[in-house]
Amino acid sequence: MEFDLPDETKPDLTGSMRNGIILMDGGTGHDVVPHKDQATIPAFHREHIAAGAAVLKTRNGCFGDPELGAKAAALAWNTRHAAGKDILIAGCLPAPDGEIEFDTLASLDALTAIYRDHVRGLGPFVDFYLCGSMRNSLQATAAVTAAASTGKPIWVSWKLKDNLSATLPCGETLAEAWQSIYHLPVAAVLVNCCDPESVTAAMPELKNLEAHLEGGNAPLVGGYANGFSSMARKWTIKAAAGAHRHTRPLDPDVYARHVKDWIDRGADIVGGCCGVGPAHIARIDELIEKRGPSR
Ligand SMILES: [Zn+2]
Repeated sequence: MEFDLPDETKPDLTGSMRNGIILMDGGTGHDVVPHKDQATIPAFHREHIAAGAAVLKTRNGCFGDPELGAKAAALAWNTRHAAGKDILIAGCLPAPDGEIEFDTLASLDALTAIYRDHVRGLGPFVDFYLCGSMRNSLQATAAVTAAASTGKPIWVSWKLKDNLSATLPCGETLAEAWQSIYHLPVAAVLVNCCDPESVTAAMPELKNLEAHLEGGNAPLVGGYANGFSSMARKWTIKAAAGAHRHTRPLDPDVYARHVKDWIDRGADIVGGCCGVGPAHIARIDELIEKRGPSR
C-alpha cells in the first residue's frame, strides 16, 4: 500500500470546534487488526465523517506492536484524504494490555521507550496524539513524555471506574493523575471507556483541574464514554460486581442525552468509546448544531 505524504503543519485544534464543541468519532470496542480489517476500518471512518465527526481516532493496535498502530493510522489518513474533509486524526497511544511483563509496566523509562516506538510509527499520519484509556499516572506520564518530543498537541484521557467515583482503575483521583502530568504540554484532558454517568460525575473535577495551571493555557476538557451502561437501576454489590456482564446498550438518543449533560457541565470535547457508532455521533452532531454559537 502507498500513501501520499501528509504535510507537517501543526493543527489548530480549536479550529475543529463547532458551536464551542469538538466532536470526536465513536469506537469499535476492540483493537482493530489492520491486515484483517482493511475494508471495515475505512468504512467505519467514512460513516463517522458522514455523521459529523471532526476527529477520527486511529484504532489502538496492540501495545506490544507499534507497527499495527501505524498501519491503522495510515488507513485513517488515507480515508480522510479520499474524503477531502478538514478532519483531524488523533494518533491513539494504547494502554498496556497485559502482554508486557510487570517489571516493564512498572518502569517509567521502559514504558516511555515503548511509547516512543508508537509515536514514531503514528507520526506521519496524525495531527495530534491521544493517550487514551490511561489506567494510572505512570502510563499517562510515559505516553505524554514520548509524544512531547514531536511538538504536536497531546490529549490525555483517563479510564474511569464505572462507579461515579471519578477515580482511575488504580484508585488514583483525577487530581492525583493530573498532578503527575500538568507540567507537560497537555492540550486537553478527558475521561473515557466508562459509563456515560461516570463521565458526567467526572466533568466538574476535570474543570477544576484547570486551577493547577498558572499562567499557561487551561486544557480543554471532555469525555467519550462507552455506549452501554452498567449502572444498575438499583445499586447492589452483586450488580456492581457483575457490571460488565449486565450492561445495557444505550441507543443514540439516550447516549446523546448523557453527552448533553457533559456539555452542560463544561465539556469542550465529546465523542464515543466502545459500543458507540455513527448513529450515536450523528445524534450528538444534531445536538451541537441545535446548540448554536457557544456562550
Ligand atoms: Zn471503551
